[in-house]
Amino acid sequence: MSSPLTIADVGEFEVIARLKQRFARSGVGIVRGIGDDTAVLRPSPGYLVLATTDAAVEGVHFLRASTTPRLLGQRVLAVNLSDIAAMGGIPRWALVSLSLPETTPLDFIDDLAAGLGEEAARFGVGIVGGNLARSPERLVLDLTLLGEGEPDRVVYRTGARAGDRVLVTGTLGDAAAGLAVLLGDAPSGLPGADELIGRQRLPTPRVEAGRVIARSGLATAMIDVSDGLASDLGHLCEDNGLGATVFADQLPLSAAIQTLAATVGRDPLDWALHGGEDYELLLTAPSERVAQLTAAVQAVGVRLTDVGEMTERAGIWLQRPGGQREPLRGTLWRHF
Ligand SMILES: [Mg+2]
Repeated sequence: MSSPLTIADVGEFEVIARLKQRFARSGVGIVRGIGDDTAVLRPSPGYLVLATTDAAVEGVHFLRASTTPRLLGQRVLAVNLSDIAAMGGIPRWALVSLSLPETTPLDFIDDLAAGLGEEAARFGVGIVGGNLARSPERLVLDLTLLGEGEPDRVVYRTGARAGDRVLVTGTLGDAAAGLAVLLGDAPSGLPGADELIGRQRLPTPRVEAGRVIARSGLATAMIDVSDGLASDLGHLCEDNGLGATVFADQLPLSAAIQTLAATVGRDPLDWALHGGEDYELLLTAPSERVAQLTAAVQAVGVRLTDVGEMTERAGIWLQRPGGQREPLRGTLWRHF
């Protein structure tokens, strides 16, 4: 039996040709996609261009043994989509840079590209360019995503005011609970465990909810929850020179996380407050706008929960149902 073909066997140009063919699909505003020295894009008249980038490094962000190339491709786009969602933008165009060992199987690249293409198609993103480079040992996948937003509708991290409510989409902590299952810290056979693992492997970027929030003009500030509620609320507070109080009994928890937490005797709030990779949206809005905002987000099938309040007083506090308060500290993900 012959061993599978690697990149070295077919050569760089063949790999590029395959990617080019796969991503030849047209998209909005693409004057020229892959195949020239640069992509040529035409932004919608009157819109601002949003730009974000995020990398996945083998051994740091993922292990080849514990993911699939397809999921890897989907995921690197999903986390970038979440950042466009957090501005209330429309995702449009992606550039992908791949650094790979030459021993990488061709199948791996094909599957990764299939995952990327699938996620791109789902969100109307055109893959318009990229780069292929040789890496000595590890795979590095770098993705730049461009989007568009209406100048008077883009939602920034700044703009929150004391007294604004703190709102969050979806449920919190599921990805962290899923990771606990994957790492063997929690049993895998429980009802809902697969759902938690799924949320860890592939987040659902809240693009549609982000658009609804932006177009409503009702939110004052927004960020996506990538490092955990405590950390990302910390960023919002810092950027606005404010503090916040979070009400423990209002945090949205899935049925699956509650079942798992009860079974292993853990407080699900640990995952909900400090677990990363939820990729939900965290936003602020004056209290009189909350009902309208919640209804608008629910209309696109996404839950929006009022979890706290922005305060003049600095610091983030967690308030328990009995009224006790404790300081809430973000466990910062340290890159270096
Ligand atoms: Mg972000």
